[in-house]
Amino acid sequence: MIKCIRYISMAFLLPVLFTCDAITNFIISDEDEITLGQKFRAQICADAVNYPLYTKDTAVINYIQLMGQAIADAQSDRKNIPFSFTIIDSNIVNAFSLPGGPVFVYRGLLKDARSGAEVAGVLAHEIGHITMRHAAKKLAEAYGVQIIDQILFGSDSSAAAIIANLLAGMAFLKVGRDNEYQADSCGVAYSVLTRYNSYGIKNFFQTLYNLYGDTPFELFSDHPATSERISNVQRLINKTPGVPPGVPPNDTTWMHQADYAVILSKL
Ligand SMILES: [Zn+2]
Repeated sequence: MIKCIRYISMAFLLPVLFTCDAITNFIISDEDEITLGQKFRAQICADAVNYPLYTKDTAVINYIQLMGQAIADAQSDRKNIPFSFTIIDSNIVNAFSLPGGPVFVYRGLLKDARSGAEVAGVLAHEIGHITMRHAAKKLAEAYGVQIIDQILFGSDSSAAAIIANLLAGMAFLKVGRDNEYQADSCGVAYSVLTRYNSYGIKNFFQTLYNLYGDTPFELFSDHPATSERISNVQRLINKTPGVPPGVPPNDTTWMHQADYAVILSKL
């Protein structure tokens, strides 16, 4: 019954309201978005070939989970979301987030980061994609309610086939320039709220630029260029209240983290 109402309403509202928040909320409720994300997450975690999970050192796993949860708890843009933080055991330099809470970060990214604040900036960026519902909106806009319903309410095998297709290119996670800038803004703001150095995301972009130049990453989409984002994040930092001037770039002020060098030695 609920599905029928949704379809009928969509037929009337779709032409004029398709991209606004109201219709996205209507298409995917929080509850559905969380279920959707958990189905994607389960399939990723079961795919040891493409997404081998990092299990080597529980201190590293706990560090990322504690850090991610602290950032998720500090933000107030979107509460009551079951965030999770999982490390993929691969040298790829990447991170991504799914609708409704799951965040994945690759070991390669953790190895390139030079401080906990840089990792915090990346996690805060990914959490920002979730709080701003970027992937959920993209799914609704690009694939429509029927595909989402098949994942949510279809048989396990048909849902798994659709998820596998969507994961193949990760196209639904490739959001536009505006969304990336908005997630960068969250990266700065949430870092400040968690008392991490707000320069974390900027420093991580700088680290990437030093290592790879303007090579595109999924995390940062293929646009805008890393160098462009460094200057943009600096502008965001300048505008963010609560950022003390002249903070040493690698100083993390959050009290409950081990030195990142210890984590690096375990990766
Ligand atoms: Zn992003």
